[in-house]
Amino acid sequence: MINDDTDSHTDVRGRRRSRARRRHRKGNALFTCFLAVFVLLAGFWALWKGTSLFLTMDAEEPSTAQENRPPTGGKEVEADGTRWNLLLVNRWNLLPDQYEVDLVELPGGESVDTRIYSALQEMFDAMQTDGVYPVVASGYRTAEDQQRILDEWIAEYRAQGYSDQEAQAEAAVWVALPGTSEHQLGLAVDINADGIHSAGYEVYDWLDENSYQYGFIQRYPDGKTEITGVGNEPWHYRYVGVEAAKDMKNTGLCLEEYLEAMEESERET
Ligand SMILES: [Zn+2]
Repeated sequence: MINDDTDSHTDVRGRRRSRARRRHRKGNALFTCFLAVFVLLAGFWALWKGTSLFLTMDAEEPSTAQENRPPTGGKEVEADGTRWNLLLVNRWNLLPDQYEVDLVELPGGESVDTRIYSALQEMFDAMQTDGVYPVVASGYRTAEDQQRILDEWIAEYRAQGYSDQEAQAEAAVWVALPGTSEHQLGLAVDINADGIHSAGYEVYDWLDENSYQYGFIQRYPDGKTEITGVGNEPWHYRYVGVEAAKDMKNTGLCLEEYLEAMEESERET
């Protein structure tokens, strides 16, 4: 590479070029300086504002979470007439075949259905306003992701001395089999504390009290394991829409019970 400072060109054109390059380099240095100062200021601003580095999303991102707005992807109503936000997936109700999900990636690397994005963001903003700092530990999963997680849990139980059969049974209490996990819908998120500003119980308590206002419910509450098929998980939240979430909060019904109650009332009318 030619070093301009030891450039031996004597023709005017060569010198002009050298000067131009030097000017260019000075310009670059100045720009780098400005950039560094800007990045520093932005960093301080983010810290001061308590802006999350885990779920900060810009305004241009899709805002399609309102349940009555046509979705950007997926279907508004499934083949059996179920609204997308009330689609039931559990160990007795498998994910529909060829289920399609339109994903948006969160800053932490997890993804969710675009239709719940703005509701999730609003909820996280509200939490931070209250001084609670959450992270999305897990969002959308493919069937392969789900299988991998299940295998890890089974291996863990095996390592603790459980037999193959016992290990599988134990793991199945906590990890859904592929095709039976709500995470495959893209409508469920595991929410934990950031571990720096907040502890787990603070996040869980806040969610328990407030999540319904944003359309999210604690999907596997204590005392409903028989019905949901999953043990108490204070971190697992499912988007069902504000209306259903409010109803479920007021009545204490889990999703399975709520859907059954809806069916019954429809039969009666
Ligand atoms: Zn979960």
